[in-house]
Amino acid sequence: MNDFDLFIIGAGSGGVRAARYASSLGIRTGIAEGWSLGGTCVNRGCIPKKLYSYASNFNEDFEVMNSFGWKVKNKEFNWKKLVSNKKKEITRLNSIYLNLLKDSKVKIFNDYAQFIDRNTIKVGKIKIKSKNILIAVGTKPRRLEIFNNSNLISSDEAFNLKKLPKSILILGGGYIAVEFASIFNGLGVKTSLCIRGERILKDFDKEVSEFLMKQMEHKGVKFIFKDFPKKIIHEKYQYNVFFKEKIKRYETVMEAVGRVPNLKKLNPNKAKIKLTKNGAIKIDEYFKTSVNNVYAIGDVVDKIQLTPVAIREAMNFVDNLKSRVKKKFNYKNIPTAVFSTPNYSFIGYTENEARRSFKKINVYKSQFKSLKFSLSNLNEKVFIKLVTNALNDKILGLHYVGENAAEIVQGFSVAVVNGLTKKQLDKTIGIHPTCAEEIVTLRNK
Ligand code: NDP
Repeated sequence: MNDFDLFIIGAGSGGVRAARYASSLGIRTGIAEGWSLGGTCVNRGCIPKKLYSYASNFNEDFEVMNSFGWKVKNKEFNWKKLVSNKKKEITRLNSIYLNLLKDSKVKIFNDYAQFIDRNTIKVGKIKIKSKNILIAVGTKPRRLEIFNNSNLISSDEAFNLKKLPKSILILGGGYIAVEFASIFNGLGVKTSLCIRGERILKDFDKEVSEFLMKQMEHKGVKFIFKDFPKKIIHEKYQYNVFFKEKIKRYETVMEAVGRVPNLKKLNPNKAKIKLTKNGAIKIDEYFKTSVNNVYAIGDVVDKIQLTPVAIREAMNFVDNLKSRVKKKFNYKNIPTAVFSTPNYSFIGYTENEARRSFKKINVYKSQFKSLKFSLSNLNEKVFIKLVTNALNDKILGLHYVGENAAEIVQGFSVAVVNGLTKKQLDKTIGIHPTCAEEIVTLRNK
């Protein structure tokens, strides 16, 4: 029998951070992972996605280079090399995670865990008892039942395709759909994105996400709105996709219609752990599930599915375990980015949310072509939108579409999180010539 103070199920971003931090505080900690260490982010999410996004962006760089006088003779892209180099990098990261856990004296179990009852877990054949249990098993791609027999790919498979298809249809209009549409389009695949609604990135600022959509359209992505396939038939070399009024053909079809909690192997019902109506683990404000000693963090709970959030939740949870005064997590003002081409990053309120929540707001906007693209025929533009509370001048939201949007918004997030005002932004002198300097010189409402 293995006995722990804290046993963590799932060694992704949240689970590993909780394990290392808890162990460093003297808590006897074990962790179970049935797959590679690092979870979705490292193995089939943020990291490979960003690598592929870099790969796809180089395509346009040739054109930009050309406008500065450079000439490249044989522009050629090797998909297999990208996949293989990506695998090497992920293997390197997996071993870093392993060493971090070992160095922190966390006991690692390389298998899937399942609940036997509310106090007992089984990992492979090993029974485990622990004073506290933390569920951090993350999510997996949602698969729509109507396409069950159509052999579609999800983001999991997209990373490891044997060859690049000539054409792809991506179903969905959220983070994953938009990012992969940019990746495939940049790599030269004829890319279409299909959504049931009116626009991509429904929870982002309407005007800014529509601007992004137009930018992506200029680069070649085709958008299909207010239509969604009823049926898809897979033949040997193509998929026949049945839209409302026509049938279209693609070499590959990818589902990117959200992610669902990864609970199949865990058997949470054996411990009588309650789920939300979306099938996520239900928790209170202190990460506690419906069962006293069992907690949950990260994508498997119905909050915000972002790696840095899971990491902070992990630390908040461990702090609470150690301390008598329990802290609640602050889910406000979390910056985020879609690594589309161009990137869209934002923090705080969208314009519409701000209009609904505050009496009077000011909206400052700027749109321009960056100096880097000025010599080329590329149409890519930067769009910046700043939303403030007109009554006290506080910054409510910042939205940025353009190269390095995430790097820029990360820095300015400090201002938003700390309640700075537009006047305080204006005190800052810009760094010239940059795109980000526009944020401290915004005048036009
Ligand atoms: P999202 O929730 O972002 O988007 C899901 C998309 O699928 C929406 O367009 C939604 O349409 C559509 N959809 C959902 N159900 C159906 C259905 N039954 N039929 C048709 N369309 C449907 O999910 P993703 O999978 O893109 O990403 C999951 C999460 O992972 C994100 O929310 C994000 O938190 C995280 N993530 C973060 C990234 C980053 O930080 N850069 C990158 C990738 C993922 P509708 O809008 O109409 O509901």
